[in-house]
Amino acid sequence: MIRRAKIICTIGPASRDPETFRRLVDAGMDAVRVNFSHSSHEEAARTIRMAREVAREVGRPLAVMADLQGPKIRVGVLPRPLDIDRGEVYTFEALHDADAGGEGGAIPITYPDLANELEPGDRLLFDDGRIAFKVEDVQGARVTARASTNGRLLSRKGLNLPGKALHVPSLTDKDRDDLAFALAQGVDYIALSFVRRAADLSELRELVDEGVLIIAKIEKEQAVRNLVEILSLADGVMVARGDLGVELDFEEVPVVQKRVLRLSRESVSIGITATQMLESMTTSSRPTRAEVSDVANALLDGTDAVMLSGETAVGDYPAEAVEAMDRVARRIEAELGFLEDPSDFAPPLVQSGVHRTVSGAIAGAAVEATHRLGAPFLITLTTSGFTARLLAAQRPRVPILAVTDKERTYRQLAMAWGVVPILLEEEVSYDGMLDRARRYAFDHGLAEPGRHCVVTAGMPFDVPGTTNYMRVETL
Ligand code: PEP
Repeated sequence: MIRRAKIICTIGPASRDPETFRRLVDAGMDAVRVNFSHSSHEEAARTIRMAREVAREVGRPLAVMADLQGPKIRVGVLPRPLDIDRGEVYTFEALHDADAGGEGGAIPITYPDLANELEPGDRLLFDDGRIAFKVEDVQGARVTARASTNGRLLSRKGLNLPGKALHVPSLTDKDRDDLAFALAQGVDYIALSFVRRAADLSELRELVDEGVLIIAKIEKEQAVRNLVEILSLADGVMVARGDLGVELDFEEVPVVQKRVLRLSRESVSIGITATQMLESMTTSSRPTRAEVSDVANALLDGTDAVMLSGETAVGDYPAEAVEAMDRVARRIEAELGFLEDPSDFAPPLVQSGVHRTVSGAIAGAAVEATHRLGAPFLITLTTSGFTARLLAAQRPRVPILAVTDKERTYRQLAMAWGVVPILLEEEVSYDGMLDRARRYAFDHGLAEPGRHCVVTAGMPFDVPGTTNYMRVETL
Protein backbone atom coordinates (compact mmCIF):
# COMPACT_ATOMS: atom_id res chain seq x y z
CA MET A 1 0.00 0.00 0.00
CA ILE A 2 1.24 3.48 -0.82
CA ARG A 3 1.25 5.84 2.17
CA ARG A 4 -0.62 9.04 1.31
CA ALA A 5 0.50 11.45 4.05
CA LYS A 6 4.11 12.54 3.78
CA ILE A 7 6.85 12.65 6.42
CA ILE A 8 9.22 15.60 6.81
CA CYS A 9 12.36 15.21 8.94
CA THR A 10 14.49 17.98 10.36
CA ILE A 11 18.12 17.05 9.80
CA GLY A 12 20.62 17.89 12.51
CA PRO A 13 23.61 16.47 14.39
CA ALA A 14 21.77 13.17 15.05
CA SER A 15 20.97 12.51 11.39
CA ARG A 16 23.61 14.24 9.32
CA ASP A 17 25.85 11.21 8.95
CA PRO A 18 25.21 9.28 5.72
CA GLU A 19 24.27 6.04 7.47
CA THR A 20 21.56 7.53 9.68
CA PHE A 21 20.31 9.70 6.85
CA ARG A 22 19.90 6.60 4.69
CA ARG A 23 18.00 4.88 7.53
CA LEU A 24 15.57 7.81 7.61
CA VAL A 25 14.99 7.47 3.87
CA ASP A 26 14.47 3.72 4.16
CA ALA A 27 12.05 4.28 7.05
CA GLY A 28 9.95 6.59 4.86
CA MET A 29 11.27 10.17 4.98
CA ASP A 30 9.81 12.12 2.05
CA ALA A 31 11.22 15.58 2.70
CA VAL A 32 14.20 17.09 4.46
CA ARG A 33 13.94 20.24 6.54
CA VAL A 34 17.06 22.33 6.98
CA ASN A 35 16.47 24.61 9.95
CA PHE A 36 18.52 27.79 9.53
CA SER A 37 17.98 28.66 13.21
CA HIS A 38 20.53 25.94 13.96
CA SER A 39 22.38 24.93 10.76
CA SER A 40 25.51 26.59 9.41
CA HIS A 41 25.74 27.02 5.65
CA GLU A 42 28.37 24.33 5.50
CA GLU A 43 26.15 21.84 7.36
CA ALA A 44 23.15 22.78 5.22
CA ALA A 45 25.14 22.29 2.01
CA ARG A 46 26.25 18.85 3.19
CA THR A 47 22.67 17.84 4.02
CA ILE A 48 21.31 19.04 0.68
CA ARG A 49 24.06 17.24 -1.24
CA MET A 50 23.34 14.04 0.68
CA ALA A 51 19.60 14.34 0.01
CA ARG A 52 20.22 14.60 -3.74
CA GLU A 53 22.65 11.67 -3.75
CA VAL A 54 20.49 9.33 -1.67
CA ALA A 55 17.37 10.21 -3.70
CA ARG A 56 19.22 9.20 -6.86
CA GLU A 57 20.37 5.95 -5.24
CA VAL A 58 16.90 4.92 -4.09
CA GLY A 59 15.13 6.15 -7.24
CA ARG A 60 12.55 8.30 -5.50
CA PRO A 61 12.53 12.03 -4.84
CA LEU A 62 13.26 13.84 -1.58
CA ALA A 63 12.04 17.41 -1.27
CA VAL A 64 14.28 19.92 0.51
CA MET A 65 12.73 22.68 2.61
CA ALA A 66 14.88 25.56 3.89
CA ASP A 67 13.33 26.96 7.06
CA LEU A 68 14.25 30.60 7.68
CA GLN A 69 14.43 31.78 11.29
CA GLY A 70 12.47 34.99 10.71
CA PRO A 71 12.29 37.80 13.25
CA LYS A 72 12.74 35.76 16.43
CA ILE A 73 13.43 37.89 19.50
CA ARG A 74 16.09 36.51 21.81
CA VAL A 75 18.04 37.15 24.99
CA GLY A 76 21.41 38.70 24.09
CA VAL A 77 24.68 37.45 25.53
CA LEU A 78 24.57 36.98 29.30
CA PRO A 79 27.87 36.89 31.20
CA ARG A 80 26.62 33.68 32.87
CA PRO A 81 23.34 31.73 33.13
CA LEU A 82 20.89 33.64 35.29
CA ASP A 83 18.80 31.88 37.95
CA ILE A 84 15.35 33.45 37.97
CA ASP A 85 13.44 33.47 41.27
CA ARG A 86 9.69 33.67 41.20
CA GLY A 87 8.40 36.90 42.77
CA GLU A 88 11.65 38.83 42.16
CA VAL A 89 11.80 41.88 39.88
CA TYR A 90 14.26 41.94 36.92
CA THR A 91 15.26 44.63 34.44
CA PHE A 92 15.36 44.10 30.68
CA GLU A 93 17.01 46.36 28.15
CA ALA A 94 16.55 46.57 24.40
CA LEU A 95 19.71 45.98 22.43
CA HIS A 96 20.52 47.39 19.03
CA ASP A 97 23.46 45.07 18.65
CA ALA A 98 22.46 41.44 19.21
CA ASP A 99 25.98 40.49 20.27
CA ALA A 100 26.35 43.13 22.96
CA GLY A 101 25.73 42.44 26.66
CA GLY A 102 23.23 44.33 28.87
CA GLU A 103 24.33 47.42 30.76
CA GLY A 104 24.39 47.51 34.54
CA GLY A 105 23.02 44.01 35.09
CA ALA A 106 19.98 44.43 32.84
CA ILE A 107 18.97 41.39 30.80
CA PRO A 108 19.71 42.24 27.15
CA ILE A 109 16.96 41.65 24.57
CA THR A 110 17.53 41.71 20.80
CA TYR A 111 14.52 43.86 19.99
CA PRO A 112 15.18 47.61 19.73
CA ASP A 113 11.47 48.50 20.13
CA LEU A 114 10.99 46.43 23.30
CA ALA A 115 10.14 49.31 25.63
CA ASN A 116 7.86 51.06 23.12
CA GLU A 117 5.85 47.89 22.73
CA LEU A 118 5.21 47.00 26.34
CA GLU A 119 2.99 48.28 29.09
CA PRO A 120 2.39 47.17 32.68
CA GLY A 121 0.57 43.83 32.82
CA ASP A 122 2.09 42.45 29.55
CA ARG A 123 3.78 39.05 29.63
CA LEU A 124 7.33 38.15 28.65
CA LEU A 125 7.74 34.43 27.91
CA PHE A 126 11.23 32.97 27.53
CA ASP A 127 12.48 29.56 26.45
CA ASP A 128 9.25 28.20 24.95
CA GLY A 129 7.20 29.77 27.72
CA ARG A 130 9.06 27.97 30.51
CA ILE A 131 10.16 31.22 32.17
CA ALA A 132 7.51 33.93 32.52
CA PHE A 133 7.47 37.55 33.70
CA LYS A 134 4.78 40.18 34.07
CA VAL A 135 5.74 43.78 33.17
CA GLU A 136 5.56 46.26 36.05
CA ASP A 137 7.13 49.41 34.66
CA VAL A 138 8.66 50.88 31.51
CA GLN A 139 11.27 53.66 31.76
CA GLY A 140 13.08 54.83 28.61
CA ALA A 141 14.62 51.72 26.99
CA ARG A 142 14.28 49.71 30.22
CA VAL A 143 11.50 47.40 31.27
CA THR A 144 11.07 46.00 34.76
CA ALA A 145 9.07 42.82 35.21
CA ARG A 146 8.31 40.39 38.02
CA ALA A 147 9.08 36.70 37.52
CA SER A 148 6.05 34.45 37.74
CA THR A 149 8.12 31.24 37.47
CA ASN A 150 11.48 29.99 38.60
CA GLY A 151 14.00 28.95 35.96
CA ARG A 152 17.48 29.33 34.55
CA LEU A 153 17.79 31.87 31.75
CA LEU A 154 20.54 31.27 29.19
CA SER A 155 22.01 33.48 26.46
CA ARG A 156 20.17 33.38 23.10
CA LYS A 157 16.97 31.84 24.45
CA GLY A 158 13.85 32.92 22.54
CA LEU A 159 11.39 35.52 23.83
CA ASN A 160 7.70 35.61 22.90
CA LEU A 161 5.50 38.64 23.56
CA PRO A 162 2.05 37.05 23.20
CA GLY A 163 -0.54 39.07 21.34
CA LYS A 164 1.89 41.86 20.36
CA ALA A 165 2.04 43.04 16.76
CA LEU A 166 5.79 43.52 16.55
CA HIS A 167 7.45 46.22 14.49
CA VAL A 168 10.12 44.08 12.93
CA PRO A 169 10.91 43.37 9.29
CA SER A 170 9.61 39.95 8.18
CA LEU A 171 13.05 39.04 6.86
CA THR A 172 16.15 39.83 8.92
CA ASP A 173 19.62 40.30 7.40
CA LYS A 174 20.38 36.73 8.46
CA ASP A 175 17.25 35.48 6.66
CA ARG A 176 18.27 37.27 3.45
CA ASP A 177 21.71 35.77 3.65
CA ASP A 178 20.33 32.27 4.39
CA LEU A 179 17.75 32.65 1.60
CA ALA A 180 20.36 33.57 -1.01
CA PHE A 181 22.41 30.58 0.09
CA ALA A 182 19.43 28.18 0.06
CA LEU A 183 18.36 29.31 -3.42
CA ALA A 184 21.89 28.87 -4.72
CA GLN A 185 21.71 25.31 -3.34
CA GLY A 186 18.54 24.71 -5.37
CA VAL A 187 16.14 24.01 -2.47
CA ASP A 188 12.54 23.17 -3.35
CA TYR A 189 10.64 24.91 -0.57
CA ILE A 190 11.29 28.01 1.56
CA ALA A 191 9.52 28.15 4.92
CA LEU A 192 9.29 31.50 6.67
CA SER A 193 8.91 31.75 10.46
CA PHE A 194 6.71 34.28 12.29
CA VAL A 195 4.67 35.28 9.25
CA ARG A 196 2.13 37.89 10.35
CA ARG A 197 0.35 38.94 7.15
CA ALA A 198 0.27 38.31 3.42
CA ALA A 199 2.64 41.24 2.79
CA ASP A 200 5.41 39.24 4.54
CA LEU A 201 5.02 36.61 1.85
CA SER A 202 4.92 39.04 -1.08
CA GLU A 203 8.21 40.45 0.17
CA LEU A 204 9.70 36.95 0.23
CA ARG A 205 8.15 36.03 -3.14
CA GLU A 206 10.06 38.90 -4.80
CA LEU A 207 13.34 37.34 -3.69
CA VAL A 208 12.54 33.71 -4.46
CA ASP A 209 13.25 32.03 -7.79
CA GLU A 210 10.19 31.18 -9.84
CA GLY A 211 9.04 27.65 -9.14
CA VAL A 212 10.33 27.49 -5.55
CA LEU A 213 7.32 26.99 -3.27
CA ILE A 214 6.72 29.07 -0.12
CA ILE A 215 5.49 27.70 3.20
CA ALA A 216 4.11 30.18 5.76
CA LYS A 217 4.71 29.06 9.33
CA ILE A 218 1.63 29.84 11.37
CA GLU A 219 2.84 30.60 14.88
CA LYS A 220 1.52 34.10 15.69
CA GLU A 221 -1.94 35.14 16.72
CA GLN A 222 -1.79 37.79 13.98
CA ALA A 223 -1.19 35.05 11.38
CA VAL A 224 -4.21 33.12 12.62
CA ARG A 225 -6.29 36.27 12.18
CA ASN A 226 -4.90 36.83 8.67
CA LEU A 227 -5.03 33.19 7.64
CA VAL A 228 -7.21 33.56 4.55
CA GLU A 229 -5.05 36.29 2.99
CA ILE A 230 -1.88 34.36 3.92
CA LEU A 231 -3.27 31.24 2.23
CA SER A 232 -3.95 33.22 -0.92
CA LEU A 233 -0.20 33.88 -1.29
CA ALA A 234 1.42 30.81 0.29
CA ASP A 235 1.87 27.47 -1.43
CA GLY A 236 1.71 25.77 1.94
CA VAL A 237 1.23 26.44 5.63
CA MET A 238 2.82 24.87 8.66
CA VAL A 239 1.04 24.63 11.99
CA ALA A 240 4.20 25.48 13.96
CA ARG A 241 2.81 24.33 17.27
CA GLY A 242 5.92 25.13 19.32
CA ASP A 243 5.77 28.90 19.08
CA LEU A 244 2.03 28.87 18.43
CA GLY A 245 1.48 27.34 21.87
CA VAL A 246 3.47 30.16 23.48
CA GLU A 247 2.01 33.03 21.46
CA LEU A 248 -1.50 31.69 22.11
CA ASP A 249 -2.84 29.84 25.14
CA PHE A 250 -1.93 26.18 24.59
CA GLU A 251 -5.56 25.06 24.51
CA GLU A 252 -5.98 27.12 21.33
CA VAL A 253 -3.45 24.97 19.42
CA PRO A 254 -5.78 22.10 18.40
CA VAL A 255 -8.50 24.55 17.41
CA VAL A 256 -6.08 26.49 15.20
CA GLN A 257 -4.63 23.25 13.81
CA LYS A 258 -8.04 22.08 12.61
CA ARG A 259 -8.89 25.44 11.10
CA VAL A 260 -5.54 25.84 9.32
CA LEU A 261 -5.68 22.33 7.87
CA ARG A 262 -9.26 22.69 6.65
CA LEU A 263 -8.64 26.06 5.01
CA SER A 264 -5.36 24.91 3.57
CA ARG A 265 -7.03 22.02 1.73
CA GLU A 266 -9.74 24.33 0.45
CA SER A 267 -7.04 26.63 -0.90
CA VAL A 268 -5.04 23.77 -2.47
CA SER A 269 -2.19 24.65 -0.18
CA ILE A 270 0.09 22.05 1.46
CA GLY A 271 -0.80 21.68 5.15
CA ILE A 272 1.99 20.58 7.48
CA THR A 273 1.60 19.69 11.16
CA ALA A 274 4.78 20.25 13.16
CA THR A 275 6.45 20.11 16.55
CA GLN A 276 6.43 17.69 19.45
CA MET A 277 4.59 15.04 17.41
CA LEU A 278 6.76 12.26 18.84
CA GLU A 279 8.71 14.37 21.35
CA SER A 280 9.33 11.54 23.82
CA MET A 281 11.17 9.63 21.06
CA THR A 282 14.01 12.13 21.43
CA THR A 283 15.10 9.83 24.27
CA SER A 284 12.85 6.78 24.00
CA SER A 285 12.58 4.07 21.33
CA ARG A 286 8.78 4.01 21.59
CA PRO A 287 6.27 6.87 21.37
CA THR A 288 3.73 7.59 24.09
CA ARG A 289 0.16 6.59 23.31
CA ALA A 290 -0.80 10.25 23.43
CA GLU A 291 1.77 11.03 20.73
CA VAL A 292 0.50 8.20 18.54
CA SER A 293 -2.97 9.67 18.90
CA ASP A 294 -1.69 13.15 18.11
CA VAL A 295 -0.12 11.98 14.82
CA ALA A 296 -3.28 10.03 13.98
CA ASN A 297 -5.51 13.01 14.73
CA ALA A 298 -3.43 15.35 12.58
CA LEU A 299 -3.95 12.86 9.73
CA LEU A 300 -7.66 12.76 10.46
CA ASP A 301 -7.66 16.58 10.42
CA GLY A 302 -6.45 16.24 6.82
CA THR A 303 -2.78 17.21 7.15
CA ASP A 304 -0.75 16.61 3.98
CA ALA A 305 2.47 16.05 5.90
CA VAL A 306 3.64 15.44 9.45
CA MET A 307 6.97 16.82 10.59
CA LEU A 308 9.65 15.66 13.01
CA SER A 309 11.93 18.26 14.62
CA GLY A 310 14.17 17.42 17.58
CA GLU A 311 13.24 13.74 17.23
CA THR A 312 15.32 13.41 14.05
CA ALA A 313 17.63 16.44 14.46
CA VAL A 314 19.08 15.69 17.90
CA GLY A 315 17.23 12.60 19.15
CA ASP A 316 18.57 9.18 20.09
CA TYR A 317 16.09 7.30 17.86
CA PRO A 318 15.71 9.25 14.59
CA ALA A 319 14.92 6.28 12.31
CA GLU A 320 12.56 4.75 14.87
CA ALA A 321 10.64 8.03 14.98
CA VAL A 322 10.14 7.94 11.19
CA GLU A 323 9.11 4.27 11.40
CA ALA A 324 6.57 5.16 14.10
CA MET A 325 5.05 7.90 11.95
CA ASP A 326 4.95 5.62 8.95
CA ARG A 327 3.18 2.92 10.95
CA VAL A 328 0.58 5.31 12.36
CA ALA A 329 -0.11 6.85 8.93
CA ARG A 330 -0.53 3.46 7.23
CA ARG A 331 -2.84 2.23 9.94
CA ILE A 332 -5.03 5.33 9.88
CA GLU A 333 -5.16 5.39 6.10
CA ALA A 334 -6.19 1.73 6.00
CA GLU A 335 -8.88 2.40 8.57
CA LEU A 336 -10.27 5.24 6.52
CA GLY A 337 -10.57 2.77 3.67
CA PHE A 338 -9.13 4.98 0.97
CA LEU A 339 -8.99 1.94 -1.25
CA GLU A 340 -12.16 0.08 -0.34
CA ASP A 341 -14.69 2.25 1.36
CA PRO A 342 -14.07 5.95 1.28
CA SER A 343 -17.47 6.88 2.60
CA ASP A 344 -16.18 7.54 6.12
CA PHE A 345 -13.62 10.04 5.00
CA ALA A 346 -14.83 13.59 4.63
CA PRO A 347 -15.67 14.31 1.00
CA PRO A 348 -14.00 17.35 -0.49
CA LEU A 349 -15.92 20.24 0.95
CA VAL A 350 -13.79 22.53 -1.10
CA GLN A 351 -15.60 25.76 -1.81
CA SER A 352 -12.86 28.18 -2.75
CA GLY A 353 -12.48 29.85 -6.12
CA VAL A 354 -9.88 27.50 -7.55
CA HIS A 355 -12.30 24.57 -7.47
CA ARG A 356 -14.62 26.50 -9.77
CA THR A 357 -11.97 27.15 -12.42
CA VAL A 358 -11.42 24.96 -15.49
CA SER A 359 -8.53 23.22 -13.68
CA GLY A 360 -10.66 22.67 -10.59
CA ALA A 361 -13.57 21.32 -12.59
CA ILE A 362 -11.33 18.90 -14.49
CA ALA A 363 -9.69 17.73 -11.26
CA GLY A 364 -13.08 17.16 -9.62
CA ALA A 365 -14.40 15.31 -12.66
CA ALA A 366 -11.25 13.16 -12.88
CA VAL A 367 -11.56 12.07 -9.25
CA GLU A 368 -15.28 11.37 -9.63
CA ALA A 369 -14.70 9.32 -12.81
CA THR A 370 -11.86 7.42 -11.10
CA HIS A 371 -14.15 6.45 -8.23
CA ARG A 372 -17.04 5.46 -10.49
CA LEU A 373 -14.81 3.31 -12.67
CA GLY A 374 -13.00 1.77 -9.69
CA ALA A 375 -9.74 2.78 -11.38
CA PRO A 376 -6.61 1.81 -9.42
CA PHE A 377 -4.92 5.23 -9.70
CA LEU A 378 -5.04 8.59 -11.42
CA ILE A 379 -2.46 9.82 -13.88
CA THR A 380 -1.57 13.44 -14.38
CA LEU A 381 1.01 15.14 -16.53
CA THR A 382 2.11 18.20 -14.62
CA THR A 383 4.65 20.95 -15.20
CA SER A 384 4.39 23.05 -12.03
CA GLY A 385 2.87 20.25 -9.90
CA PHE A 386 -0.28 22.28 -9.31
CA THR A 387 -2.64 19.83 -11.04
CA ALA A 388 -1.31 17.01 -8.89
CA ARG A 389 -1.90 19.09 -5.75
CA LEU A 390 -5.34 20.08 -6.97
CA LEU A 391 -6.22 16.41 -7.45
CA ALA A 392 -4.79 15.65 -3.99
CA ALA A 393 -7.00 18.34 -2.45
CA GLN A 394 -10.04 16.29 -3.55
CA ARG A 395 -8.62 13.40 -1.49
CA PRO A 396 -9.07 10.67 -4.13
CA ARG A 397 -9.23 7.10 -2.86
CA VAL A 398 -6.34 6.06 -5.10
CA PRO A 399 -2.76 7.28 -5.59
CA ILE A 400 -2.01 10.07 -8.05
CA LEU A 401 0.79 9.14 -10.45
CA ALA A 402 2.20 12.54 -11.36
CA VAL A 403 4.48 12.46 -14.38
CA THR A 404 6.68 15.50 -14.90
CA ASP A 405 9.77 16.37 -16.89
CA LYS A 406 10.74 19.09 -14.38
CA GLU A 407 13.17 17.89 -11.73
CA ARG A 408 12.11 20.52 -9.20
CA THR A 409 8.43 19.59 -9.58
CA TYR A 410 9.39 15.93 -9.19
CA ARG A 411 11.09 16.72 -5.87
CA GLN A 412 8.39 19.11 -4.64
CA LEU A 413 5.66 16.55 -5.20
CA ALA A 414 7.40 14.25 -2.71
CA MET A 415 5.70 16.42 -0.07
CA ALA A 416 2.20 16.39 -1.62
CA TRP A 417 -0.42 14.11 -0.10
CA GLY A 418 -1.22 10.99 -2.12
CA VAL A 419 1.13 11.86 -4.98
CA VAL A 420 3.66 9.45 -6.46
CA PRO A 421 6.08 11.62 -8.47
CA ILE A 422 7.51 10.09 -11.66
CA LEU A 423 10.28 11.78 -13.63
CA LEU A 424 9.95 11.74 -17.39
CA GLU A 425 13.42 11.75 -18.88
CA GLU A 426 12.45 11.76 -22.54
CA GLU A 427 10.76 14.54 -24.47
CA VAL A 428 7.24 15.33 -23.28
CA SER A 429 4.44 13.78 -25.30
CA TYR A 430 1.05 12.40 -24.30
CA ASP A 431 1.92 8.86 -25.37
CA GLY A 432 5.36 8.99 -23.74
CA MET A 433 3.87 10.17 -20.45
CA LEU A 434 1.15 7.55 -20.47
CA ASP A 435 3.66 4.85 -21.28
CA ARG A 436 5.95 5.99 -18.41
CA ALA A 437 3.05 5.93 -15.90
CA ARG A 438 1.86 2.55 -17.19
CA ARG A 439 5.36 1.07 -16.82
CA TYR A 440 5.62 2.44 -13.30
CA ALA A 441 2.25 0.96 -12.36
CA PHE A 442 3.03 -2.50 -13.76
CA ASP A 443 6.55 -2.51 -12.24
CA HIS A 444 5.11 -1.63 -8.81
CA GLY A 445 2.16 -3.99 -9.01
CA LEU A 446 -0.38 -1.16 -8.90
CA ALA A 447 -2.59 -2.55 -11.70
CA GLU A 448 -2.97 -5.23 -14.33
CA PRO A 449 -3.45 -4.56 -18.06
CA GLY A 450 -7.05 -3.96 -19.07
CA ARG A 451 -8.04 -1.67 -16.17
CA HIS A 452 -9.46 1.77 -16.82
CA CYS A 453 -7.53 4.81 -15.71
CA VAL A 454 -8.28 8.53 -15.85
CA VAL A 455 -5.60 10.84 -17.24
CA THR A 456 -5.54 14.63 -16.77
CA ALA A 457 -3.19 17.12 -18.34
CA GLY A 458 -2.91 20.66 -19.54
CA MET A 459 -2.69 21.23 -23.27
CA PRO A 460 -0.41 22.66 -24.52
CA PHE A 461 1.97 20.82 -22.19
CA ASP A 462 4.45 23.63 -21.69
CA VAL A 463 1.99 26.16 -20.25
CA PRO A 464 1.73 25.58 -16.48
CA GLY A 465 -1.60 25.86 -14.70
CA THR A 466 -3.81 25.00 -17.67
CA THR A 467 -5.34 21.66 -16.73
CA ASN A 468 -8.05 21.38 -19.37
CA TYR A 469 -7.88 17.76 -20.51
CA MET A 470 -9.25 14.50 -19.19
CA ARG A 471 -9.43 11.12 -20.86
CA VAL A 472 -10.16 7.57 -19.80
CA GLU A 473 -7.48 5.15 -20.95
CA THR A 474 -7.37 1.36 -20.83
CA LEU A 475 -4.08 0.19 -19.36
C1 PEP B 1 7.54 25.71 15.85
O1 PEP B 1 7.68 26.73 16.54
O2 PEP B 1 6.68 24.84 16.08
C2 PEP B 1 8.42 25.53 14.68
C3 PEP B 1 8.20 24.57 13.81
O3 PEP B 1 9.42 26.41 14.48
P1 PEP B 1 10.93 26.24 14.98
O4 PEP B 1 11.22 24.77 15.00
O5 PEP B 1 11.73 27.00 13.99
O6 PEP B 1 10.93 26.86 16.33
